[in-house]
Amino acid sequence: TVIDPAQLLEGMNDPQREAVLHAGAPLLIVAGAGSGKTRVLTHRIAYLLGARHVQPGEILAITFTNKAAGEMRERVEQLVGPRARAMWVSTFHSACVRILRRESKLLGFTSSFSIYDSADSQRLMGLVCRDLDLDPKQYPPKSFTSKISNLKNELIDEETYSAQAANPTEKKLAEAYFLYQRRLREANALDFDDIIMTTVNLLQAFPAVAEYYRRRFRHILVDEYQDTNHAQYMLVRELSGGTATAAPKRTVDGDLVNPAAAAAAEVPPAELCVVGDADQSIYAFRGATIRNILQFEEDYPNATTILLEQNYRSTQTILSAANAVIERNTSRREKKLWTAGEDGEKVVGYVADDEHGEAQFIADEIDRLTDAGDARPGDVAIFYRTNAQSRVFEEVFIRVGLPYKVVGGVRFYERKEVRDVLAYLRVLSNPEDTVPLRRILNVPKRGIGDRAEAMIDALAARERISFAQALVRVDEAYGMASRSANAVKKFNTLMAGLRQIVESGAGPAAVLEAVLEETGYLAELQSSTDPQDETRVENLQELASVALEYEQDPGERPEAEEGDATPPLGSLADFLERVALVADSDQIPEDDEGAGVITMMTLHTAKGLEFPVVFLTGMEDGIFPHMRALNQVKELEEERRLAYVGLTRARQRLYLTRSVLRSAWGQPSYNPASRFLEEIPEPLVDWKRKGAASAPPSRGYSGGAGSGGFTAGSGGSRGGSRGAATTASPKAGWGQSARRVTEREVVGLAVGDRVTHDTFGLGTVVATAGVGDKAQATVDFGTAGRKQLLLRYAPVEKL
Ligand code: ATP
Ligand code: MG
Repeated sequence: TVIDPAQLLEGMNDPQREAVLHAGAPLLIVAGAGSGKTRVLTHRIAYLLGARHVQPGEILAITFTNKAAGEMRERVEQLVGPRARAMWVSTFHSACVRILRRESKLLGFTSSFSIYDSADSQRLMGLVCRDLDLDPKQYPPKSFTSKISNLKNELIDEETYSAQAANPTEKKLAEAYFLYQRRLREANALDFDDIIMTTVNLLQAFPAVAEYYRRRFRHILVDEYQDTNHAQYMLVRELSGGTATAAPKRTVDGDLVNPAAAAAAEVPPAELCVVGDADQSIYAFRGATIRNILQFEEDYPNATTILLEQNYRSTQTILSAANAVIERNTSRREKKLWTAGEDGEKVVGYVADDEHGEAQFIADEIDRLTDAGDARPGDVAIFYRTNAQSRVFEEVFIRVGLPYKVVGGVRFYERKEVRDVLAYLRVLSNPEDTVPLRRILNVPKRGIGDRAEAMIDALAARERISFAQALVRVDEAYGMASRSANAVKKFNTLMAGLRQIVESGAGPAAVLEAVLEETGYLAELQSSTDPQDETRVENLQELASVALEYEQDPGERPEAEEGDATPPLGSLADFLERVALVADSDQIPEDDEGAGVITMMTLHTAKGLEFPVVFLTGMEDGIFPHMRALNQVKELEEERRLAYVGLTRARQRLYLTRSVLRSAWGQPSYNPASRFLEEIPEPLVDWKRKGAASAPPSRGYSGGAGSGGFTAGSGGSRGGSRGAATTASPKAGWGQSARRVTEREVVGLAVGDRVTHDTFGLGTVVATAGVGDKAQATVDFGTAGRKQLLLRYAPVEKL
């Protein structure tokens, strides 16, 4: 596609245009919400490709969520065509995982390493603390995990930390940090924070690798820069080069201290473009530091800064409200947003008696707007401070029949049954992965109890082998009771059989289905009379749909490069990697073309998004701002930035609601109005109901009248839609959808037959064994080698 640069710049204001055209020195774009930062980034990429003849492979664009990355890629593709596909547009984590897979050998990992999410880390830390005999009351594993996460965000590894640990608690933490890292290495796994830290270490320790990536990425663009933490900051610095520290070190004689490092440093720095808004920095709790944005100009003395002040998103009234709130923060640069648009409607305020009244008002208001044709459900978003607040809205919306979805909450991938089954897949993909292996050892129950597990542990320790290796070796000879030993043997046989299916080249859907059947997991749930188990079966069905959907359309990605160790598209490993990298906001389902559904989410998840109608709820001191921030200036300022993020998501209509009475943990509490409400000038707000100030109403606490004890399932409408999209008929039960995978005709093969395999290509059958479901064939695939295939699962066709 030939792009017309003039067209790319059309409709942009002067500073926006300048930002797109700027070449050379690092560029910092700081601007308030809705001023077009993300849009500028997208157009800049298109301009690089179209007018400056940059190759797509030379571009690295980083966004905060996978969803944002997908949107950016799509928008660039609209502007420049399919060439955009070769670009790296991804989150920090995805980009680092890709680099690490390619370079894993340098670090002592295999390229199929696992990624531990926070639940896995938690579990591993539990084991570590147990092994260190730490009293969980005195040293809660949870606090250790979060401290270690903070250390990693600051790039402090276990050795550095242990050297500086002073008091007994810190020393215990250091010990745990050491063991935790060792266990991760043994499991061939990295946790979420490791992914960034390890990449930074890699680039610093291996100048040749740094040089490779510096030569490669000539343009680095980062959105939401205000939410980068120190590790991410250093990553950008290492990748782009060009700071004072990148200059080669020389000895007193003028010789290069490290010629390889000097070679890396000689690569001219990449063009760096970061965009952000210090007023929207809301991840300090994860180590994000505004310092990164405030000091960008110090670290890059030749940097250019561009300010954008015109807002294209919201009405003047909404902007004035947002400006009035954020102005109260002291440590910030003064900036004022304006819009050429209209004043628009006043902000609507509402004070309810209790949280059910608040939800009812919102439901009525949405009804009114949709009836009047002023909005569709899909235009509406409801924000709250904490996930738990969604439940009441769900109850009311279900009762009145309003369509909605919840983003976040108890997330699909955090449900027990989903995690159990994924654990099987993870062990099949990476046999040394201890955490999932322990998880499934006795799930479903098969007589491998804690004592047997302890015995395996002991064997591993004594022989200095991994848990997985000990599991294969252990038997009566090591003093294990013969019943347990038999159970272990059966488990090993089960896993070996499943592994053969994976090695036959079966895709994730087929492997998943084999796991469900052969482990007895599904049968156990199906034979249960507990209604919750029915929901669990539905969730697994959902997971099967996800796998099938993935297999049918694994998406696209840039062509593999030499040395690229990313698992092949469509493979089990790639599927697991995607699942591991899904972030909260990725669960926003695609717009279903029609009127859409109401979106509910926490304020944190709302970052970067925009909606015509926004309800900011629970505007009470103690709820928002959060209780723990009330007496702390710094935390209060962070809460205020969060308020600013929330207010500025609205395009046309903004509602602020609060409730006089709210039950917390079943106890009624009376919260005063949020101070943020009071910071908004009165003339901007139209109060629909003022309530009885914050004085307790005279009637007693009603105990949540109207809720009827109904507990809404989390995830909203998500389940149904996905399932229906992938199974032949929406009513198809488990059996049918599962059979879709297995009903692949078992090919009858004989020695000498020529076959084609989805992954291995053309081959010749050299041996056969077994019949029916158990039929196997050994096939010689030439350069791909000889493979033993289980014909029921292997994607082969006879020629
Ligand atoms: P946030 O800080 O919330 O991430 P942002 O600065 O990234 O906001 P964008 O999301 O890029 O802002 O833009 C906000 C809205 O304004 C979008 O709908 C975008 O399409 C629109 N917009 C931005 N610049 C222009 C322009 N020059 N002309 C028309 N619309 C624009
Ligand atoms: Mg943005």
